Amino acid sequence: MDAIGTLRMLSSQMELEHAEETRGFDTPSAVAPGYSTTNEPVCFTPKESRSAFVHPAQLPNGKQILLLKTLLSSACERDCYYCPFRAGRDFRRATFKPEEFAGLFMKLHQAKAAEGIFLSSGIAAGGANTQNRILDTAEILRKRFGYRGYMHLKIMPGAERGQVERAMQLADRVSVNLEAPNTERLAKLAPHKVFMEELLRPLRWVEEIRRSQPAYKFWNGKYPSTVTQFVAGGADESDLELLTTTSWLMKNVRLKRAYFSAFHPIHDTPLENKAAVDPLREHRLYQASFLLRDYGFDLEEMPFTPDGNLPLPTDPKLAWAQMNLVERPLEINRAEKRELLRVPGIGLRGAEAILSARRTGKLRDLTSLRKLGIIVRRAAPFLLLDGKRPASQLAMY
Ligand code: SF4
Repeated sequence: MDAIGTLRMLSSQMELEHAEETRGFDTPSAVAPGYSTTNEPVCFTPKESRSAFVHPAQLPNGKQILLLKTLLSSACERDCYYCPFRAGRDFRRATFKPEEFAGLFMKLHQAKAAEGIFLSSGIAAGGANTQNRILDTAEILRKRFGYRGYMHLKIMPGAERGQVERAMQLADRVSVNLEAPNTERLAKLAPHKVFMEELLRPLRWVEEIRRSQPAYKFWNGKYPSTVTQFVAGGADESDLELLTTTSWLMKNVRLKRAYFSAFHPIHDTPLENKAAVDPLREHRLYQASFLLRDYGFDLEEMPFTPDGNLPLPTDPKLAWAQMNLVERPLEINRAEKRELLRVPGIGLRGAEAILSARRTGKLRDLTSLRKLGIIVRRAAPFLLLDGKRPASQLAMY
C-alpha cells in the first residue's frame, strides 16, 4: 500500500475524534440560533466524511483551514469497549514512522492539500513510548521542516509530565480524551484506562504548566488551548454527570471545549449490541456546554429532567426561558448583557448589538431587533419592548 493509502486507512474512522469544529463531525446545527456565532460548523456529506482524511475545520480563532486528522498507528494494545482500534479486533492495521509521516504531511502541506494537522495514535509499548513517537513527529515537522501551521497533539493515557510540557511547546492545541465523566463510568467503557491518573492528571498538568511558565516558552508565544472528548451515552451516564465534569474542567483547568460523540455501536466490539445514542443528545450537550462557557449559566440552572438528562425536544436555553421568562419577560431597553444572553434568539453578537443600539434610542419594535441580528420569533415571547409585549407584532414574522 502506498503512503496515501496508509493515510486513508489510518484516518478512516476518525469520526470518533471530534477535535476542532470539523464539518460532518459537529452536526451542522450543533450551534443553534441564539448561541455562539463563532463556532458555526458547515456541512460535509457522509460520503466525503467516510473517504476524506482532510476536513474543512474552523480553528479557535475562527479561521477556516483544511485539517488532516489522523493516527500515527491504528495498532493498539488497549481494549476500550467502544473503539474500532481496540486490541484483538480483526482488521488491517497500519503504522507510520515519525519521519515517514512528517515527510508525507509536508508534501500535502506544500501542495496546499492540508493546512493543519491533528495527530493521535493507538497505543503500542505503553503510553509514554507512543507519546514519544507523536512528539518526535511534531518535532520533525516544526524543527526540521520549519512547519508553522496549526498543530493539535493528542496526549496519550500514561504520558509523563515532561512529555505534556514538550507537546505544549510544539502545539497550538493539546487534548486528552476523558471518554466518560468519572471513574465508575469509565470502567464501563475502557476498563484499562485510569480516570484520575491517566486522563485527568495530564489535564491538570497542562493548567499547572500554563500557570507556572511564561507564554513565550510555548509555540508562537501562546499557551496551547485544551479540549477533551466524551463518548456520550456509552456508559449509561446522565447528561448531568457529563456536564458536571465539563463545568469543573472549564472552571479549574481552563478547558476550552468539550466534544461529545454520541455512542454508536461498532461491529466486533463488546458494545456491538448496545443501542446507538440519538445524535440529538450530542447536540443538546453542545448547546448546554456553550451556555456554561459563554452565556453565564450555572450547572444548577440547566433544565435537567428527574433522571438527570436534558430534554431532547427542547433546546436547554429555550427550556430555561420557558420556565423563567414567560411570566417575567425582560425589558429589552433596560436588561443587562448577562440577562440578554439568556433570551433565546439572542447570541453573543446580538447582545452587543442591542447594547450599542440602546445608546442612540429606545428599541420599540421587532423590526429594529431583527435588523440587529436577533431571531425575533424565538426572542419575542420573552421580551418587553418599551413596556409592551410584542405578541401582536409577531404575526409579521
Ligand atoms: S487506547 Fe485509544 S485507540 Fe486504543 S482502544 Fe482505547 S480508545 Fe481505541
